[in-house]
Amino acid sequence: MTLSLAATAFSLAVAYALRCWAFPYGRCIWCRGDGIRGGTYCRRCDGSGRRVRLGRRLHDTIRAEYRRGTK
Ligand SMILES: [Zn+2]
Repeated sequence: MTLSLAATAFSLAVAYALRCWAFPYGRCIWCRGDGIRGGTYCRRCDGSGRRVRLGRRLHDTIRAEYRRGTK
């Protein structure tokens, strides 16, 4: 029971990581991808309607840290 739960959680995490890698941008949750919120530009995404996924930002941070460490 616990093992299958862990396997499910792991496969979900892998699927999420893959999605972050393949599609780094997600739809802005504040303006739902319109870029306009309340008659003005959405400040969360600067009116683009796209946001960098959290997982992708994490990936970029780790990569930048790794590069800084090796140089
Ligand atoms: Zn937005």
